[in-house]
Amino acid sequence: MKTIKTDCLVIGSGIAGSLYAYKIASSGLKCVLISAGKLNDCNSNLAQGGIVYEKEKDFSDLVKDIQRAGCNICNEDIVKIMCKSGFEAIEQYFTKAFNTDFNRDEKGNLLFTKEAAHSKKRIIYSNDSTGRAIIFAMQRALKKQKNLTILEDTTALDLLTLSHNSTIKNDIYKPLSCFGAYALNNKTGEVCAITAKKTILATGGIGQIYKHTTNCLQAFGHGIAMAYRIGARVINMEYTQFHPTAFAKGRSALISEAVRGEGAILINNKKEPFMAKYHPLKDLAPRDIVARAIEEERLKTGSDCVYLDLSSMTGDFIKKRFPHIYKTCLEGGVDITKEPIPVVPAMHYFCGGIWTDEKARTNIFNLNAIGECACNGFHGANRLASTSLLEACASALICAKEDIKEIKKKDFYIPSPKEWQSPAQAPDENLILQDIQTLKNTMWNYVGLVRSKSRLDRAEKILRHLKNEIDIFYKDYKLTPQLLNLRNGTQVALLVTYAALKHKESCGTHFRID
Ligand SMILES: Cc1cc2nc3c(=O)[nH]c(=O)nc-3n(C[C@H](O)[C@H](O)[C@H](O)COP(=O)(O)OP(=O)(O)OC[C@H]3O[C@@H](n4cnc5c(N)ncnc54)[C@H](O)[C@@H]3O)c2cc1C
Repeated sequence: MKTIKTDCLVIGSGIAGSLYAYKIASSGLKCVLISAGKLNDCNSNLAQGGIVYEKEKDFSDLVKDIQRAGCNICNEDIVKIMCKSGFEAIEQYFTKAFNTDFNRDEKGNLLFTKEAAHSKKRIIYSNDSTGRAIIFAMQRALKKQKNLTILEDTTALDLLTLSHNSTIKNDIYKPLSCFGAYALNNKTGEVCAITAKKTILATGGIGQIYKHTTNCLQAFGHGIAMAYRIGARVINMEYTQFHPTAFAKGRSALISEAVRGEGAILINNKKEPFMAKYHPLKDLAPRDIVARAIEEERLKTGSDCVYLDLSSMTGDFIKKRFPHIYKTCLEGGVDITKEPIPVVPAMHYFCGGIWTDEKARTNIFNLNAIGECACNGFHGANRLASTSLLEACASALICAKEDIKEIKKKDFYIPSPKEWQSPAQAPDENLILQDIQTLKNTMWNYVGLVRSKSRLDRAEKILRHLKNEIDIFYKDYKLTPQLLNLRNGTQVALLVTYAALKHKESCGTHFRID
């Protein structure tokens, strides 16, 4: 087995992992960045709306808006720390070093827009493809870093750990440290070990455990499952945010709220507008209310989806204002300048994850978590629009600064990793795909927008059975990327279900009808 030695191993190449890797490599330390797909296969690349930024730095209104959206359970100290550091990341890196193509006026000043639940205009953006502009600019800078090794199509399998005698006596920290990970080359099937002084989980969201999701294909919650297996603490797992409108054809591409903001209305399969029945703000009601209304209308009318009617806008306006959405729908066979868009709600953002402190440290020594896979209490029970990119780059920057200081100051003991043991026999991929469908349907039907004890009990039963199958039946087969998706996705699904069962009241994105 090949072993690669480095200072920092970063798992995941979204905004969080990439910014961390850039900062480490540019400080002179060695860094390996692995990505389960290509570098830009990540949720960050899909972000449409924008990223929160305030020049004045008096962000007391922003803190209030974040708290209100998060049902007042956000950690206020964390919110302030992340806003400060996120703004620093935007100023130093995104607008300067990386020179991201944000929309600007003729004098070169950044343009600001407003989104749902924000009390003022404070979001910078790049048309309707902000994430793509950010990732493009970051990758251009990353590829120039001499101390950085980038491994695409490389999936982390499990974390390397070392037990030690700890004098720390409390319930949180484990007498365990992490010193890297085993990684699978998706193309050759070879497994290598990557040893590191610091291991950083930046594996993003969990949307792919649901039938409908706006997330990238890699979003099965790998980092959360790997961390949980070695005893990392996970929190707020019941808070899964659903977006009301995703394209109902092909991959569930996001149809931004801005489309309704510009006057589009939701209609059912009988062409009747229905939002007035559900909320006084009609189509611009809060996200969770619109999402549940769509589900109810869809079930009532026995239809697979509802529709977004854009007939109040001209074709030219649609093409200019929503070029990306226009193109995506056209590729899916729908010309939105002529016909309504079929839409369904979809799992969009995960507010829970691996517990971390304000410096992105988990309860396992030398294992950090940043971005969507981590939970430091910033988002509380629901996320305010356009704050996730901010939180992801803030936690990456803080974490990198701390790690640089620590690595330059301290000695680290890195043992030789054990050989990776794996059966030679390949599993039946069709069987795995069927099991993944079971996982996705179970989560959608029973742990989705509307939850109750009986639905969650049903989910737990199915998922436990699935987990047993994975642990017993699949253990005689070698791990493939799909089998990893199934194994880690089922683990995370169980954690979401347990948390949802325990939490008997509705709060934020967690909605119980009982
Ligand atoms: C359609 C869409 C629109 C959005 N719009 C906005 C917006 O306008 N503003 C905003 O603030 N937020 C938005 N969000 C949310 C935001 O994009 C994400 O929360 C954020 O990008 C997460 O960044 P990340 O670096 O944590 O994860 P990601 O960008 O998802 O990156 C995760 C990385 O981990 C890799 N990975 C996963 N598992 C493994 C493994 N086992 N081994 C190796 N690599 C692995 C993936 O391949 C990927 O490279 C949107 C999200 C979506 C899906």
